[in-house]
Amino acid sequence: MDTEGIVIRIKTPSGDMDSSVDCPALLNFNDLLVAIRDVMPEATVTAFEYEDEVGDRITVRSDEELKAMLSYYYNTMNEQRINGLLPEPLQIFPRAGKTPGIRNIHGLKVNTRPSSANECSQATPDPVTNNSLKKSSAELKKILTNGQMNAQDIHCQEQLGQGNGGTVYKAYHVLGKRVLAVKVIPLDITEELQRQIMSELEILYKCDSPYIITFYTAFFVENRISICTEFMDGGSLDVYSRIPENVLGRIAVSVVKGLTYLWSLKILHRDVKPSNMLVNTRGQVKLCDFGVSTQLVNSIAQTYVGTNVYMAPERLSGEQYGIHADVWSVGISFMECFLRGVWKHREIVLPSLQQKSLPLC
Ligand code: ATP
Ligand code: MG
Repeated sequence: MDTEGIVIRIKTPSGDMDSSVDCPALLNFNDLLVAIRDVMPEATVTAFEYEDEVGDRITVRSDEELKAMLSYYYNTMNEQRINGLLPEPLQIFPRAGKTPGIRNIHGLKVNTRPSSANECSQATPDPVTNNSLKKSSAELKKILTNGQMNAQDIHCQEQLGQGNGGTVYKAYHVLGKRVLAVKVIPLDITEELQRQIMSELEILYKCDSPYIITFYTAFFVENRISICTEFMDGGSLDVYSRIPENVLGRIAVSVVKGLTYLWSLKILHRDVKPSNMLVNTRGQVKLCDFGVSTQLVNSIAQTYVGTNVYMAPERLSGEQYGIHADVWSVGISFMECFLRGVWKHREIVLPSLQQKSLPLC
């Protein structure tokens, strides 16, 4: 079976819920059922369905049927790519059974928590409800994608780039057998500020969108914070030569969807620019480096010597600003990407980079 990460969209009566699954090969039927029950706690979901190419619904009730669904989905994804389309998430439709009161006359309880032996399925008890079946969306994300990550299991490899705040490395998470991007930022701050930053970063666990880089974990080692995220093998848009209108149009759709998602969580990006728009060879475009931690932004700002060419006038003049400021930066970024060749600005015309833009065309 193909092992690349996928996005599963759970279709519920109250809306869609997207979750990235980085290691689908380790996903089992029960994990997914637990995840569905978490987003639909009022229903007794016993199975789910997906649609085949002619729209017929196929039921999944076991690990075998889950495997068949995934292999069908990988074929569909490949076809979409061949036709120059961005792959759609895998849509699943939960199927509710009879209520437990009718079916479970003896009131039996089954512990459906994944075992700790499964690295991709670890979860901690919910501190609020202390109910082993009730999990927050943050935990759901961990169940589906992450597992636990510790500093000593993450091995930094080559440097991917250097910004004003820190340095980004390609890294390997030994236990999860997964490639990551780790941004290391030296910060000379107190332990109290370190704790504040860590707690402000917690909201990143809740970000769950195919247009936002997946956050895995963050930790301090001495006076350096390491922020571990999904690795994007196409890098950021600032390294590409002039991007043609048809490709830029597709990129714009993803960027706007990513920003709309952040705004729906009351998060302003605050640093929209081509180097914070990442692409991969699956044809995905994702935003990174949005300012969820005021303390982190302030601490970096103390040594910041970067550019503010993407900044909206109201920000430059120190006035109050809102989502319009992000929209301004989107406009400047796309104008730059489109005019880059014309300006002869950082023009890099390498066959490999041109190839990287192919999935987007
Ligand atoms: P600034 O510090 O002003 O935000 P920047 O965005 O260029 O500038 P960084 O965020 O440190 O600086 O990123 C440096 C480079 O690392 C980026 O330009 C990008 O090419 C690369 N990079 C960052 N995150 C990832 C990632 N998740 N996957 C792949 N490459 C990445
Ligand atoms: Mg950046």
